[in-house]
Amino acid sequence: MKYDRILIRYGELTLKGRNRKFFVRKLKTNIRMMLRRFPQTQIETLHDRMYVLLNGEPYDQVKERLAKVFGIQSFSPAIRTEKDLDQIKAAALHIVKQAHIPGGTFKISARRSDKSFEYDTQQLNYEIGSHILINVEDITVDVKKPDINVIVEIRGEGAFVSGEVVQGQGGFPARSSGKGTLMLSGGIDSPVAGYLAMKRGVDIEAVHFHSPPYTSERAKQKVLDIASKLAEFSGRIKVHIVPFTEIQEKIHEKIPEGYTMTSTRRMMLRIADEIRKKNDALAIFNGESLGQVASQTMESMLAINEVTNTPILRPLIAMDKVEIIKIATEIDTLEISNRPYEDCCTIFTPPAPKTRPKTDKIVAFESKFDWAPLLEKAVEETETLVIRSEGNEQANDNHLNLF
Ligand code: ATP
Ligand code: MG
Repeated sequence: MKYDRILIRYGELTLKGRNRKFFVRKLKTNIRMMLRRFPQTQIETLHDRMYVLLNGEPYDQVKERLAKVFGIQSFSPAIRTEKDLDQIKAAALHIVKQAHIPGGTFKISARRSDKSFEYDTQQLNYEIGSHILINVEDITVDVKKPDINVIVEIRGEGAFVSGEVVQGQGGFPARSSGKGTLMLSGGIDSPVAGYLAMKRGVDIEAVHFHSPPYTSERAKQKVLDIASKLAEFSGRIKVHIVPFTEIQEKIHEKIPEGYTMTSTRRMMLRIADEIRKKNDALAIFNGESLGQVASQTMESMLAINEVTNTPILRPLIAMDKVEIIKIATEIDTLEISNRPYEDCCTIFTPPAPKTRPKTDKIVAFESKFDWAPLLEKAVEETETLVIRSEGNEQANDNHLNLF
């Protein structure tokens, strides 16, 4: 006996009323894409859950992929049997034997949505539990904190027996809430901001500012590697690499030192906003966290934000560094972010940037030079790459339009 299917629970999705159908359809498309590497798998949708039928594909590997799909609250590998007590007992025994360690405990949690089934939940718990106690050595029942919780569900379409509940990502299916432009540096914060936005269903396109020769090829590669970690959650991600050297040099020529950082941020934001418009995105996301560094005071945000009315969304605004690092570890970007290559801002940061820049001052400094041609040129010369998750490399552009 082997797990033949995975039962998928949607959680929060079910709260979405009229949009529910749309979300469920999106989730199904996303799961199909994330499991492209396992061609035998099939997805079955019922009104309150989904099944992935394994058809011989390896559960452990499929599990790893599903654990990264947004919109799944939890899932359980299951064995489907006929609504027949002996078959159900055999499946439950199989699951316990696989997971049991001598001296361990278990519990049977029966549920019955098919009320016509001849045993009620108490009888089921008793019958199946006794079967386990008779056939497994050195095991006891613990209804409060069992090592193995065997879930038995009697539904219209059959009986389902499962022994493991795997927590999913939660959130909304990837690409279900419109497009957003993520300002992605090689640092720790912005990948986490991108991940959190994606978790709310935002279709993220990344913009990265690159200043060769001050920043190396390896600094760029670092950002692409981070993007590929993010792509693990969505199948693919677009990255726009903006050549920023000329603008940075000009800022250092034209703007007084205390204000170069504010101006750099304003120029970045103007360019990111142009790229956002060109790609029909609705908002800009960044990795700012209040008070973390000089550019992340409210005064700074006010002075930087002055260049656009576009919503600037900051998923990390109230988070401590410790919390951010915890997420960066979970999504596996921390190690890449910690690689030592400098990014464009680190190199050009003056020794004492203003922590309380004045908007009227920076506007006055910038007004002495016509920045528009340089900004336009940077947008024009932006290089766009599509980074795909592992195992998803062959997806052609036709397919891209689907998501
Ligand atoms: P991060 O770890 O995300 O780099 P940080 O704490 O180092 O953040 P800053 O370097 O001040 O903070 O950057 C603030 C935000 O500005 C970043 O989170 C990112 O969204 C954006 N940003 C900074 N540098 C770049 C860059 N080279 N390309 C694109 N966006 C950038
Ligand atoms: Mg940074």
